Amino acid sequence: MNPLRALDQSSKLKDVLYEIRGQALVEAHRLENDGHTILKLNTGNPAAFGFEAPFQIVRDMIEAIPHAHGYSDSRGIVSARRAVVYRYEQLEDFPAFGPDDVFLGNGVSELITMTMQALLDEGDEVLIPAPDYPLWTAMTSLGGGTPLHYRCDELNGWQPDLEDIRAQITPRTKAIVVINPNNPTGAVYTREVLEGIAAIAREHSLLLLSDEIYDRILFDGAEHIPMATIAPDLLCLTFNGLSKTYRVAGYRSGWLVITGPQDHAEGFLEGINLLASTRLCPNVPAQHAVQAALSGVQSIDALIGPSGRLHEQRDAAWQGLEAIPGVSCVKPAGALYAFPRFDPEVHEIRDDAKFVYDFLVAEHVLLVQGTGFNWPTPDHVRIVTLPEARVLSEAIERLGNFLSSYRQ
Ligand code: PLP
Repeated sequence: MNPLRALDQSSKLKDVLYEIRGQALVEAHRLENDGHTILKLNTGNPAAFGFEAPFQIVRDMIEAIPHAHGYSDSRGIVSARRAVVYRYEQLEDFPAFGPDDVFLGNGVSELITMTMQALLDEGDEVLIPAPDYPLWTAMTSLGGGTPLHYRCDELNGWQPDLEDIRAQITPRTKAIVVINPNNPTGAVYTREVLEGIAAIAREHSLLLLSDEIYDRILFDGAEHIPMATIAPDLLCLTFNGLSKTYRVAGYRSGWLVITGPQDHAEGFLEGINLLASTRLCPNVPAQHAVQAALSGVQSIDALIGPSGRLHEQRDAAWQGLEAIPGVSCVKPAGALYAFPRFDPEVHEIRDDAKFVYDFLVAEHVLLVQGTGFNWPTPDHVRIVTLPEARVLSEAIERLGNFLSSYRQ
């Protein structure tokens, strides 16, 4: 028999990074196999921290299962797409759209992948925030495009820096990604900043890609302003889903809404349609969760209010981090994360991936390094604020103790 030919990873993957489930997670699994208990603060997966799926959603999905064994329309079942239309009709100033302007997906993740594959040619540029949710950067690269990162300004509550966005525009810029509320920083963007981004998109004819998966996870009265309401005159794709607000990340259920003028973008939109067809359809039982989720009681409200669990946990994480010498943290106004800064004058960290690894091995807590979110310097980590306040406080205390003697 001939020797088997070596199989390398495709060169398409050379710039595709996803450190949220990277090498440190492999080590965490190894430690678990050795019998250790690891507190995994790397993924925003509410179910892993005792958040239950809303009963109504589970019930409707179970009732649907006996009739959900066939493929559906590639865009998704009509009742779910209508429920998405209804959801946005309730939002002031959201531009009108119909069920045919909605694509359901196996999570927002699949829809991001499809969008970038349909949009990009070699050398096309996409503006993406730094720090970002890294799937946007990864899928831009996989789609053959070039991600360019615009800075969000930590000293200004992590709001996007409009000057930096402007400075990075070239004739090859095709789209701008907005993640609001933001993962990993928890920032909720002001109207002025969103208007500034829309003005830049208008001036340079850019597609707006707005990831709003945390739009209902807001604290202290923060207001979420959908990008599409600011730019009804521009083509805007809004992404959202059930993973966070409805705590059913494992169902893999999300949607994409298209608003604004479409005539100039027929080819691109046909491309999305084609890719939706090639994946046949999203998981059908999970599509049946959409209508139940969107039309029922919004149970997230009780979790984010002043005495709600998510609110308490956000406070515990933020207070604990701020109490560590040489650590500061912009108070998250939304989402499920904190993104603290380690002052380089106080903490000597040259390689933040190594820091995360060393902390995991010593303290059995898994974080994700800031550079994993395309933040350029090794001075941040992301902490998921989903565990109960007591557990978070203890993990952060361990972080403080570990940092006090850590050198690289
Ligand atoms: N977008 C952002 C900003 C996220 O934080 C996540 C998951 O953490 C996703 C998209 C992916 O969500 P889904 O579970 O719908 O694929």
